[in-house]
Amino acid sequence: MPARCLDGNAIAAEIRAEVARDAASLLDNGCPVKLAAVLVGSDEASRLYAESQRKLCGSVGFAYELVELPADVSQDDLHATIDRLNADASITGIILQLPLPAPLDTALAQWRIDPYKDVEGVNPANIGLLFYGEPLIQPCTALAVLEMVRRSGAVLRGARAVVVGQSTIVGRPVTMALLARMATVTGCHIATRDLAEHTRQAEILVVAVGKPRLVGAELVRPGAVVIDVGINRVVQRDAGGREVKRTVGDVDFDSVSAVAGTITPVPGGVGPVTVAMLLRNTIEAARKQRQRR
Ligand code: NAD
Repeated sequence: MPARCLDGNAIAAEIRAEVARDAASLLDNGCPVKLAAVLVGSDEASRLYAESQRKLCGSVGFAYELVELPADVSQDDLHATIDRLNADASITGIILQLPLPAPLDTALAQWRIDPYKDVEGVNPANIGLLFYGEPLIQPCTALAVLEMVRRSGAVLRGARAVVVGQSTIVGRPVTMALLARMATVTGCHIATRDLAEHTRQAEILVVAVGKPRLVGAELVRPGAVVIDVGINRVVQRDAGGREVKRTVGDVDFDSVSAVAGTITPVPGGVGPVTVAMLLRNTIEAARKQRQRR
């Protein structure tokens, strides 16, 4: 039987509807939600992205402010901008658009964001709280993976989970979040010997590598929940022999969906849920700031 495919677009739409209700209720209670995005050295693609963020925020009742800085801004001036947003009580969430132009230090700038306003969950303080199992605001992609696992119906407690890819921003936070829910987790990476030996044991398999179709059916345990985080642009030839660009995941969807129990597609899987989690985090941040006052 083919795997059940989780529809990330539909799940994201449900979350956005919840977020819009929550934002309205916060507004009624005198706490408007406002997201500020810091963009350094804006090019056309970044501007378009910021424009789509503005629309997205508007659609759920958040105010939005884009703070643009020149590409040659100093690290100190970037920090001063973040400090200003931290101190501004009308701003409830801050995101720093990446990548930053060289020689700016991304980690230092992320450190600077108030952990209570860090709606992407990228401040090392927020990543560290995950380690203690007491998260304040969690990284959006890890939350999206957990949401997909929850919707699969899988029970995490005691389950064998394997996370392929151990980056600080995706793979490791996912690993920590699964551990915090009492799964038995194996973290695989570029130096893992015999990847298949590990992945074939996985009842829950999360792949976050950035290599198109790295995981085929031969790496998947029958009935597994397979969550594909990868986003890869590839060039393929269509039936007429023309080159076309497509977005694919790290999982070979066609072969794996014949083996897995549940699978997420790319596009239309973890990606839109991650964006929805940014909105949910912005609500969480606004609530926690009120409690802190
Ligand atoms: P990264 O390059 O920082 O990390 C890649 C990880 O994969 C590393 O831990 C590396 O050791 C491991 N790896 C590389 N080759 C491997 C192999 N052959 N076998 C096993 N492990 C291997 O990447 P990242 O930032 O974590 O992103 C991973 C993917 O997830 C990318 O495709 C990215 O576009 C995507 N992504 C998606 C979302 C989303 O919302 N869906 C969010 C962030 C990133």
